[in-house]
Parts: sequence; C-alpha cells; structure tokens
Amino acid sequence: MKAIQIVKPEHPPELREIDKPAPGPGQVLLKVTAAGACHSDDFVLNLPPDNFAYPLPMTLGHEGAGVVAETGSGVSGVSDGDAVAVYGPWGCGVCHFCSRGLENYCSRAAELGIAPPGLGSAGAMAEYMIVDDARHLVPLGDLDPVHAVPLTDAGLTPYHAIKPSLPKLVGGSTAVVIGAGGLGHVGIQLLRHLTPSRIIALDVSAEKLAFAREVGAHETVLSDADAVANVRRIVGNDGATAVFDFVGYQPTIDTALGVVGTMGDVVIVGIGDGVAAAKVGFFAQPYEVSVRSPYWGARDELIEVLDLARDGVLEVAVERFSLDDGLEAYRRLAANDLRGRAVVVPD
Ligand code: NAD
Ligand code: ZN
Ligand code: ZN
Repeated sequence: MKAIQIVKPEHPPELREIDKPAPGPGQVLLKVTAAGACHSDDFVLNLPPDNFAYPLPMTLGHEGAGVVAETGSGVSGVSDGDAVAVYGPWGCGVCHFCSRGLENYCSRAAELGIAPPGLGSAGAMAEYMIVDDARHLVPLGDLDPVHAVPLTDAGLTPYHAIKPSLPKLVGGSTAVVIGAGGLGHVGIQLLRHLTPSRIIALDVSAEKLAFAREVGAHETVLSDADAVANVRRIVGNDGATAVFDFVGYQPTIDTALGVVGTMGDVVIVGIGDGVAAAKVGFFAQPYEVSVRSPYWGARDELIEVLDLARDGVLEVAVERFSLDDGLEAYRRLAANDLRGRAVVVPD
C-alpha cells in the first residue's frame, strides 16, 4: 500500500510502497478515508537528528478517519464497515488521567512505549492504518470524513484549550486568537459558538486576516511589531480576557503577554520553534494572569467536538489532496500557503 513517511530527519517526507499491516490481538485495521496534515508534522520533519526520537521510517498523520476493515482477536464494540474518527493521543487507558478520558496526559505512555499514530506509531497518511484499541475510535455517523478528520486535532486541541477559560469569557469579554490556520480557524468558530466574547484575530497577511473574519472574527490585527499597541487600542485598559496563541514563537508569546489583562488567561498552544517561552513573575504581567500550555485533548471532548460539527456550527475549511499528491500538501503547509487544513484522501 502507499504511505507518506518520514525517512530521514530534516528531509521532506516521501511517498513509499509498504506492506499492508494486519491487526494483532486487540487491534483494529482501518481503511483510511481521510488524514489531516498538521503543522506539528512540519515541526517533526524539521527536528534535527539529535532531537529526533521517533522510529524511522514512520508513516505520518495524527489526524485520521476510516472505515473498520478488519479486527484482531478479542476486539469488541466495533464492526467491519463502521465509519470512525481516530482519537490520537493514545494512553494506557488505566492511569488516573486516562480514567478521566485525558489520555493526552497519560502518566505511563512513555514508560510503556505507547505513542500516537504519526507521532511514534504508524499514522494515517496511508491506505490503511492500525489502531491499537477500539477505545480510540469515535463513531462518525453521517459526518463527512474529509471535513470531520481535522476535528480530531485542529478541532479537539482548540476546544480543550478554550474550555477552561469559558467561565471568564462572559459578556463584554475579549478573546484574542493568534494564528488563523488549521487550529486557529476552528478556534475562532468555537469561541463564536460557545461565548459572547468579542474575538480579535491576528495573522501575518491580509489574506489570512480576511479568512479569520470569514470564519467569525469580529476584528483582525496584523501580527507585527505594532500588534500589542493595535490590540490594546481595541481592548482598552481592561486588556484581553483570554489569548490563544496558535503559533508559539517568541514574538507571538510576547504579544499574548502584552495584550492580556488582569485575571486573564494566556494559552500557548503553538509549538513554534520548540524553545520560545513565557516569562512570568510578579512584575512580568498584569495581576493574576494564568498561563497554560495544553496538549491535544480528552476522549470525551472529541465526542463533544464531533457533536458540535453535527449541530452544524463548525465548518472546517479543507484543501483536499490525493495520497499521490500528499507531498504537495506538506510543501504547501511548510510554505504557509493553505486555507484551513490540508486533508489527504486515499483513492
Ligand atoms: P497552520 O500552519 O495551519 O496555521 C498556522 C497559522 O499561523 C497560519 O495561518 C499562519 O499564517 C499563522 N502565523 C504564522 N506566524 C504567525 C505570527 N508570527 N503571528 C500570527 N500568525 C502567524 O498550523 P496548525 O496546524 O494550526 O498548528 C498551529 C500550531 O499549533 C503549530 O505550532 C502546531 O505545531 C501546534 N499544535 C499544537 C498542538 C498542541 O496540542 N499543543 C496540537 C496541534 C498543533
Ligand atoms: Zn497536530
Ligand atoms: Zn494512562
């Protein structure tokens, strides 16, 4: 079967012919119907060899949807032909975090060698993929897999990032979204639907800002050296109630801390170059600001996000590629030349 794989660190991915996998005990084989390309893939592709911790070659794709093609011995709860989305942050299923559905924060995954598809295990950028447990599958029902697959990360991650801030995002509040890409454009829609906040979106071009307004931002500001002053002109002395940084480079983290107001939230979701940091301390930011750096989301939250999509309140902007054109999806992602999410659809 065809698969898009990382073969060598700091090299573009390759489209390769590999063996179709067979499900072992407890595992489920999916015929992939859609796989989303995340900016974290680009981060992984650019990791220097010294920091590269994944087995190679590795099939990319941590956003996956498919149809159950075959089940290993002992599998129950799913049947051949079921349309499903893959919950990606696999955990042990047993520890305290996993018991709460927060497998993204499993305390034993590293020690047990459990890794998400596309981020340590074979991912979804292939004709077939193995899912280690039926627990990781969420029924898609009649949701279109191509538009639903980004919700497994580009929807779930902003949802998990926004949820703890909801009690603060009351009437008269402001929410700032930095980076209106795959995650950010769903984040804006979630904020529009879940809160009465005024939403200010930041990005780097007029085109990206127009896209942010199309998906629901009330105001847009260019993310440049004047961004703090320009956002402050809108939010006034109160500052922003919550800032969601879907970029995570030093300048955007500095912008986030520069616009947040007293008792506000700064939520750093973007990985940036992997080293940028928020400096916090008594005199570093307004009183009682909270800073979080969430990772992905919980199993129950993926069900909630898919239900929101079913309610028709989330419209994921998708650029569709065949598996044969999948490398082009990664080139466009690296060049910041996508509107929403690149989704690869095997023939
Ligand atoms: P994307 O490429 O789809 O979107 C990034 C957006 O940010 C683009 O619109 C781009 O124009 C914009 N941008 C770039 N530089 C900017 C700047 N200086 N100021 C404002 N906007 C800027 O990326 P994505 O897939 O949405 O991922 C976003 C980030 O989140 C990446 O760093 C990714 O690795 C990370 N991520 C984190 C998690 C997590 O669990 N924490 C999960 C998924 C992705
Ligand atoms: Zn991702
Ligand atoms: Zn666990």
